[in-house]
Amino acid sequence: MTKVIDFKKYTSIHIGGKHSVKVINEIGDFKKYTILGRGNNLLISNNPKPLAILGEEFDYILQKNRKLIVGAAVSSGKLLTYCKKNNIANFELLAKLPGNMGGLVKMNAGLKQWEIFNHLHSIKTQNGDILKENIPHTYRHTQIDGIIYEITFDIESGYCKDQQKTFNTMRDNQPSLPSAGSCFKNPKDTHSAGYMIEKAGLKGYTIGGMAFSSEHANFLVNMGDGTYDEAIKLIKLAKQKVLEQFNINLELEIIII
Ligand SMILES: Cc1cc2nc3c(=O)[nH]c(=O)nc-3n(C[C@H](O)[C@H](O)[C@H](O)COP(=O)(O)OP(=O)(O)OC[C@H]3O[C@@H](n4cnc5c(N)ncnc54)[C@H](O)[C@@H]3O)c2cc1C
Repeated sequence: MTKVIDFKKYTSIHIGGKHSVKVINEIGDFKKYTILGRGNNLLISNNPKPLAILGEEFDYILQKNRKLIVGAAVSSGKLLTYCKKNNIANFELLAKLPGNMGGLVKMNAGLKQWEIFNHLHSIKTQNGDILKENIPHTYRHTQIDGIIYEITFDIESGYCKDQQKTFNTMRDNQPSLPSAGSCFKNPKDTHSAGYMIEKAGLKGYTIGGMAFSSEHANFLVNMGDGTYDEAIKLIKLAKQKVLEQFNINLELEIIII
């Protein structure tokens, strides 16, 4: 089954054309496709390779032997609601982390010391179940070949409303304009990407309909009709200026498709 998706509407940064996308509802060999989640970390180029998303067959949440078993098409909001209802701890940050669980695990999404891998037990791919200890992962990076179909987490009891409030406060400085989250990863043992972009004079800097947010310089925001080409120009400019001024090679967190 395929369906046409308008990526200007689908992605959080509101960029992209209309493309036919394969909807995957069974585990198989789909190497020729780039799998997408909910499009919260993506910049869709003008001519993307064949694309796929997971269908309804992978939208389920189960509990078995103190494990939480989640289809990779489950949204973070759905899992959060489930954890609240079932008094399950450790997933409170999902309130502020948009995406599907496959995308969140692939990106090892998180905030400060909390990351989705903290409570992961294993994932299911075309090659079977893979335990967390066998998946190389670091800050916002994982080495996972192919599509994640299912994720298993360890369960701890005690949903914590205060934890959720703390996370909400930490997100107060996030721009409200459409974005794909942080544009660049924060480099290790030095200034944050946002600090360096700001010091390079690019906070609020605009090209056409795209800008580095005046609220948080590491957010590339769409002010209305921003395009892929404008986004790329800003990314190149920030990389060049930060390299000149700080001798740091900024690494993209946003995934270009
Ligand atoms: C306002 C805003 C705030 C954000 N704040 C944060 C934050 O604080 N911390 C943070 O870490 N992120 C943040 N993000 C980014 C985003 O929430 C995460 O990257 C999330 O993991 C994206 O999930 P997604 O389903 O939208 O994935 P997509 O953006 O669709 O895809 C991301 C990557 O995952 C891959 N992928 C998707 N599904 C699968 C699958 N089933 N199997 C294998 N690979 C897959 C894609 O190929 C792509 O490489 C923010 C984004 C926005 C818009």
